[in-house]
Amino acid sequence: MTSSILVLGAGMVGTCTALHLQQRGFDVVLVDRRTPGQETSFGNAGLIQQEAVEPYAFPREPGFVLNAALGRGAEVNWHARGLWQMAGSLWRYFKNSHPQPHARATEAYSQLIAHATHEHDPLITAAGAQDLVTREGFRFVFRTAQAFDEAARRAEDLHTRFGVRSQAENTTQLAMAEPALQRSMAGAVRWLEPWAVNDPGALVQRYADLFVARGGRLLTGDATSLQSQGLGWSVQTTEGRVHAEQAVLALGPWADGLIRTLGYRFPLFIKRGYHQHYTSPAQLLQPVLDAERGYVLAPMQRGLRLTTGAEFAPIDAPPTPVQLAKAEALARELVNLGEPLPEAPWLGARPCTADMLPVTGPAPRHKGLWFNFGHAHQGFTLGPVAGRLLAEMVDGRHTWIDPAPYAPARFM
Ligand SMILES: Cc1cc2nc3c(=O)[nH]c(=O)nc-3n(C[C@H](O)[C@H](O)[C@H](O)COP(=O)(O)OP(=O)(O)OC[C@H]3O[C@@H](n4cnc5c(N)ncnc54)[C@H](O)[C@@H]3O)c2cc1C
Repeated sequence: MTSSILVLGAGMVGTCTALHLQQRGFDVVLVDRRTPGQETSFGNAGLIQQEAVEPYAFPREPGFVLNAALGRGAEVNWHARGLWQMAGSLWRYFKNSHPQPHARATEAYSQLIAHATHEHDPLITAAGAQDLVTREGFRFVFRTAQAFDEAARRAEDLHTRFGVRSQAENTTQLAMAEPALQRSMAGAVRWLEPWAVNDPGALVQRYADLFVARGGRLLTGDATSLQSQGLGWSVQTTEGRVHAEQAVLALGPWADGLIRTLGYRFPLFIKRGYHQHYTSPAQLLQPVLDAERGYVLAPMQRGLRLTTGAEFAPIDAPPTPVQLAKAEALARELVNLGEPLPEAPWLGARPCTADMLPVTGPAPRHKGLWFNFGHAHQGFTLGPVAGRLLAEMVDGRHTWIDPAPYAPARFM
């Protein structure tokens, strides 16, 4: 008999989870309060980061915390209320960023990242989304020789340990490869394996269209109406209350709010981020991270997208795009940005965990309930991997990756 399941949240993670469950014969209802891919999965830098084998650690360089505290630089911004709310999780994140625990997290994280492009590939083909994807890599560019040399050494190390492929480019090679760069840079590390998506929200929408074309039901509804009912779960939608035997929470940065109502206190926090598009007459060929300044420039269908680093603020606090203004000034040193498009800056929130690993697996205290969130800086990259891993667990079969490091029960 077909088993029914609700997937709450149609971002990259929820949509891919729905597709993988459907592929395994489940009767899946995908529920979101908006159309698919309109939140965090919409506004990111669009990178499928096959190079990101190390989860993003709390920066430990001397001077970083002082600069962040004084509001210098474009990398970090904070609201006092945000720091206060997240203090416990941030402290654990800081401790887990120590080289030893970070190396353990990397061991687990790299297992997921290793499959990122390989798992997106069949979905991109089936969804007819090749027009959205470029498979030409991603550059970290460096202003100083010291930072470039260190990065080139680190890239070699990642190649030895994880097989991550890259090319170091000196000043001349970089200027030839990326003529839109108008400032002479010390060099670049070009990661060869990442892919770039020129409209990330559209890719999620195409995946959701594929889910519907294969017979899945996509409904508008509110995840906060989730109730355990009899042996299963139900949620309120515009088509009435929908029941299923099981449910998956894939609510990205909103997961914490819902799981708290179920009695879970996990060390979760968010890093908000902004983007703005520019007309940029001299288009970059590939996305670029200005590695010593902490923002990304990514060519998109709408123009050149500038995305910012981390802002520690409550998810519902009003936008304070000060990093965007600083990053824009820095980006103007690198490229001819042109004019910002006449639209308000986009604001989203990376869903983070204190141990830098996602939360993928059964809810420890609720039968038939599953969690799939907390993919932080790489949720767009990891959606298909996380979706497959969770679907294999729900299906009760052997999983192709060991799910133990991501088990929600680790926080109990
Ligand atoms: C500036 C920035 C740049 C980034 N760049 C990259 C990048 O280049 N590559 C990368 O891999 N990652 C990147 N990320 C991270 C990535 O965007 C996220 O990790 C990822 O989008 C999370 O996906 P998700 O599906 O978990 O969450 P979301 O995409 O936020 O999806 C959650 C869904 O839940 C729905 N929802 C929430 N509450 C309710 C409710 N009550 N009822 C019904 N539905 C609800 C929302 O509407 C939403 O559709 C970036 C993030 C930011 C902020």
